[in-house]
Amino acid sequence: RKVKEAKPDWIRIKLTTGDNYQEIKSMMRSKTLHTVCEEARCPNIYECWANRTATFMILGDTCTRACRFCAVNTGMPTELDLQEPERVAEAAENMNLKHCVVTSVARDDLKDGGATIFAETVRAIRRRLPFCSVEVLIPDFMGDIESLRIVMDAKPDILNHNIETVERMSDKVRAKAKYRRSLELLQRAKQLNPAIPTKSSIMLGVGEEWDEILQTMDDLRKVDCDIMTIGQYLQPSEKHLYVQKYYPPEDFAKLKEEGLQRGFSHVESGPLVRSSYQAHEQVKSAAQH
Ligand code: SF4
Ligand code: SF4
Repeated sequence: RKVKEAKPDWIRIKLTTGDNYQEIKSMMRSKTLHTVCEEARCPNIYECWANRTATFMILGDTCTRACRFCAVNTGMPTELDLQEPERVAEAAENMNLKHCVVTSVARDDLKDGGATIFAETVRAIRRRLPFCSVEVLIPDFMGDIESLRIVMDAKPDILNHNIETVERMSDKVRAKAKYRRSLELLQRAKQLNPAIPTKSSIMLGVGEEWDEILQTMDDLRKVDCDIMTIGQYLQPSEKHLYVQKYYPPEDFAKLKEEGLQRGFSHVESGPLVRSSYQAHEQVKSAAQH
């Protein structure tokens, strides 16, 4: 079923561009770096960059998968760039970031799925910015535990892996990734290092039912996931999955309550919330948990 609703008012983006934002923007142009903030056309870019939070995309800009909600290019990925961890760290240092999120496209063509480059990037940022918290938002590595271990050994401040949607919608929305495999990955991460908070995110509006959202929360808590973010899916282009529903802000507020009652240490829930939105706050609350 195709639904073409007009975007409601609460989706409008605040166009406030502070000094930090402009500075970061020009620096991005001078380096060949990819941020998700830009590539995914994230609605929070002004706020996040002004707050010295950014999300870098490593391992190139071409993904081996093609999820139906995602604006990233798909196809044959570029060659591995071994200098990338240092360049990301240098950019993070120049931006004087307080919280740095490192994520990647899915690199199913690589044996370790890119885990080594993830780990190197965490270490490179730590060397230059010891007080910057580093969150990794990883793909599922096709369920490979060794790849996960490589990333966990670098001791990120948060291990994030997005479940993206409820179980019933998973195959339709995600390419190759599996709901159960994502839960397992989060569980394994906890087993490898219980001290590192885990985090996951879903986007609403792709056809899920309310009860299924609550079920997803329960499933995440069963694997001891600490932090959850919930946002509205926005269609990046006409070619992408249609938006089935726009949830009003009250629904997001209710879901935040539901999540906190279930024992998440932090739930960020709102129409424009994205996986890395307000992530520096989550590090604090997870540490207090
Ligand atoms: Fe970047 Fe994440 Fe903030 Fe969006 S929410 S601007 S992707 S750091
Ligand atoms: Fe986008 Fe990630 Fe899916 Fe690749 S695996 S298409 S980057 S959501």
